[in-house]
Order: sequence, then structure tokens, then C-alpha cells
Amino acid sequence: MKDKERLVDLAIIGGTGSDITLDNVEKIKIYTPYGSTSAAISIGDFKGKKVAYIPRHGIDHSIPPNKINFRANIWALKKIGTKFIISPSAVGSLNKTHSKGKFILIDQYIDRTKKRAETFYEGGQLCHIGQADPYCEYLNKLFFETGKDLEFDIQNGGVYICIEGPRFSTRAESKMFRQWGGDVVGMTNYPEVVLSAEKEICYCCIAMVTDLDVWAGECSECGIVEFAQRCEKCGGTVNKLSVNVPEVLETMVKSAENLKKLLELTIQKIDIKRDCLCHHSLTDALL
Ligand SMILES: [Zn+2]
Ligand SMILES: [Zn+2]
Repeated sequence: MKDKERLVDLAIIGGTGSDITLDNVEKIKIYTPYGSTSAAISIGDFKGKKVAYIPRHGIDHSIPPNKINFRANIWALKKIGTKFIISPSAVGSLNKTHSKGKFILIDQYIDRTKKRAETFYEGGQLCHIGQADPYCEYLNKLFFETGKDLEFDIQNGGVYICIEGPRFSTRAESKMFRQWGGDVVGMTNYPEVVLSAEKEICYCCIAMVTDLDVWAGECSECGIVEFAQRCEKCGGTVNKLSVNVPEVLETMVKSAENLKKLLELTIQKIDIKRDCLCHHSLTDALL
């Protein structure tokens, strides 16, 4: 493939609900210095834009979060000209105001991963990339406004705690993440976000709440409360919650339609010619 042949405008890295319908789809395989991408990249037309799609966990959902080749995915997307990455991600809630089905446009992260390749600069030229504001404000605002118009439960801004996985958290960990100010917990956003910054690509994470993680207890009578034996509101018994795979999948399927709408309407609004701060993130970062 020659560089200028198949430029795309933007890319989606995602799973359930994020495979919006593209026209004239072509699947391409890109060889990267870091090995294979999660799957072949689908490229197609969507309302006048060229959109690329990578299923983050592979086509048959067989790649665990801690084994995703994040560098290959981002490197390949840069190679085909991607300027904007949209990354929907299933998360657990760490806050009782974030119910299942809610969308949160992440604006901060805390990295709790342990053994992931998290930079393209491993020696020789050094890069100290700024991460004070790691997510694209422009994309966040567009998605938020569209979500509001659609009357979705959506919030602009939130802290994503990225854990290594593939296991879920203990109750003690989950409680600690809440104390740190986390809004949601997930396993895939880091280092996708920082690698995108190293490639000067606008990056946006749409976190979809699929479960309430394990900090919460649920009142048998009236809903969610924090840890307590009895519900403060109605005195009902509080049952500790657990998170499990069927619950996550069930909510993802339910949210898939909404996610698709959100993506399709917002992508139409993205000004692909816009010059964004994110496109200059390497300025003053290289040594
Ligand atoms: Zn940007
Ligand atoms: Zn109650």
C-alpha cells in the first residue's frame, strides 16, 4: 500500500455497538514494527468521511485487555492518516451517580497497569509527552452535545482508572479507586491514549457504564447505596454487588443501539480539516 492511496479521516477502536455501517468497505492489513494489529482494519465511507475501524479485542473477541497490541494499532492508524481516534470502552462505575447505560466522556486517567508497552520512544530520541489533559476537548464537546440532544444520560469529564486485568478488582481496590476520585474503572484505555498523543492524533474515550464494580451494595428495596448493612433511606437489607461477565455483556448489548446513534450523529459533525492542539503534542516533547 502506498502512503497517499488510502488516507482515512478518523478511526474507531471499539467493540459492541461501535461497528457503524460503512459503505464500500475494504479490509486492509498493515505491517507494523510492533507486530500485528488486533485485526485487519476495515476502511469505508460514512457520510462523506473515510472511517477506519479496528475491533480492539480481535474479530472473535479473543484478545484479553492485557494482551492488546496497542502500539501496533496506533502505529497502523497513524500510517493510514488518522487524525481523530474515537474509542468506546466498557467500564465499571465507581460512583452512585453513574448508573448502568450512562456515557462518560473521559478527561483524565490514572494508570494502574503494570506490564504494557506504553511508548514509541524506547531509546535514542527521548520523548516526554505532556499528559496534563490527555483527551481531545473538541471531540468530547461534540459527543457531549450530541448525547444531550439525544437525551442520553451523558457526562462531559470523568476519571478513568485503568487496571491491568484481566481480573476484576477486589472490594478493597474498588473502594480505594473511589477515594482516589475515580469515576469509572476499565482495562483498555491506557496506553491507547498516550500512544495516540505520541502520534499527534486527537483521542476521545466514550466510557459506557456496564456494571457497578464491587464497591457498591444494593438495597433490596430501593436501589444503590454505599457499603452499609442497612439502607439509610428505607432500612432495607443491603446486598453486596459483584461484577461478572454476563452482566457486562448484557448491558453492552443494551447500550449498543445508543452508542451507534451517538457515533453516527457525532461523526457527521467532526470537522476533519480542523487543526487541533492534539495535532501538535510533540512540540517541546522531544529531547
Ligand atoms: Zn484534539
Ligand atoms: Zn433502601
